[in-house]
Amino acid sequence: MSCRGLSKSRIIAWKQCPKRLWLQIHRRELLEFSDDTEHRFQIGYEVGEVAQGLYPSGILIEDEDDLSAALMSTKTAMADYPNRPIFEATFQHDGVLVRVDLLLPTDAGYRMVEVKSSTSVKPYHIDDCALQAWVIRQNNIPLNSIELAHIDTSFIFLGDGNYQGILRFEKLDDVIAPLLELVPNWIQEARSTLSGDIPTVEPGAQCSDSFECPFTAYCTQHIKESVQPRYSLDVLYRMQTETKEMLRAKGFQDVCHVPSEFLNETQQWIQRISLTGVAELSPNAGVSLVGLTYPRYYLDFETINLAVPRWINTRPYATQVPFQWSCHIEKSHHQLGHEMFLDVSGNDPRRHCAELMIEVLGTEGPVFVYYQAFEKGRIAEMAELYPDLAPALHAINLRVVDLLPIARANYYHPEMKGSWSIKAVLPTLAPDLRYDLLVIGNGGDAQAAYREILHTNTSDARKQELTEGLREYCKLDTLAMVRLAWFFQGE
Ligand code: SF4
Repeated sequence: MSCRGLSKSRIIAWKQCPKRLWLQIHRRELLEFSDDTEHRFQIGYEVGEVAQGLYPSGILIEDEDDLSAALMSTKTAMADYPNRPIFEATFQHDGVLVRVDLLLPTDAGYRMVEVKSSTSVKPYHIDDCALQAWVIRQNNIPLNSIELAHIDTSFIFLGDGNYQGILRFEKLDDVIAPLLELVPNWIQEARSTLSGDIPTVEPGAQCSDSFECPFTAYCTQHIKESVQPRYSLDVLYRMQTETKEMLRAKGFQDVCHVPSEFLNETQQWIQRISLTGVAELSPNAGVSLVGLTYPRYYLDFETINLAVPRWINTRPYATQVPFQWSCHIEKSHHQLGHEMFLDVSGNDPRRHCAELMIEVLGTEGPVFVYYQAFEKGRIAEMAELYPDLAPALHAINLRVVDLLPIARANYYHPEMKGSWSIKAVLPTLAPDLRYDLLVIGNGGDAQAAYREILHTNTSDARKQELTEGLREYCKLDTLAMVRLAWFFQGE
């Protein structure tokens, strides 16, 4: 790319950090998008598709890879169909290219709408809209309003593919007005960044504001290699950000050096173990477990909260739909069985999920979970949804035993680095059980895999691969709980 050609996303990258833009153009091979970022992109595409679906007469400007063709198609569409919405309308001014999500005709011009998958307006959205509006106005196109459409979490999907109301349109004209005159400076400064040497910028808050910079690994490499403390202050469980900042300002970077008067009891425990390097397990850890009867059940859900709901009476992001559970059953001491539910049909999985769970869990025996608010919450929601199943589901909730508070109160290993998540605890006590060897290794990946399975373009072979990955992943979660319970009981 010549330094003259800039896109909206490149100028927004420059606004986040000049070094980011420079690296994006001159050292592209260093770019590393995290899985979370890839998932965010995917959700953005889904929301974009739904937004277009709200305007059935809309014209999509394709030609994504051919700028001249896209500019020409936009001109033609606006001239030939002045009353029809245009998706991805493409404009250029002073070498800056923008593609507008929705350009909606009005009596006297257009509404410019940027569509985002977030649930509110973020500061960088405002810059984004200002830049687009500036380019459009420089093309002498009358804009009656500049808007940002984001997900409205109060929307309830009632079926029939009807998504009217899923987006909330926020008018940004007033906040953008003072920015419009700054846009030429942004462009000039971005160009000047690109034509110079790599900017000197140290990693800081900007690296994750408002989204994670894809050059984080590159920029923080030297820190990891040199001054990174072994146990940073982030290891101090539930220490407030202001306290950590105050301690850093006093020169304390490593947990091991922080005076004890700044630490509560748990944090002092973490510090002691970080100093000695020796894990501690309280002899009381298993006290509440040893007397429990068999069979014992170890249960874990995987859920999805879609930005674009697909099942009736679900809300964007707000409804957690369980699509999978794994259950290890300890029929008698150390005698394990395993059951699983996974629905990849695309139909609402909840009824079948609840019915099979009731059948497998029976009516007696403790049901171990890790963080009961989550599992009990999903079970209670299914009870509300299916009144005929409610008594059995509520009875399951009464049998729940949460292993997380037992872990928090009784066990710490220096390599847990301040986290009692099952992913942090497991490697310290059962190194033979490895999430890192799985195709799907965390909850975010599981959700992304499920979304991909539901997508109509996903091949059968890929669906099969992802389904197998989900099975392995969820199964490991409950096996991890089994090992944890045994560990607490000294077994
Ligand atoms: S990681 Fe941080 S310092 Fe490096 S380019 Fe990105 S935002 Fe700038």
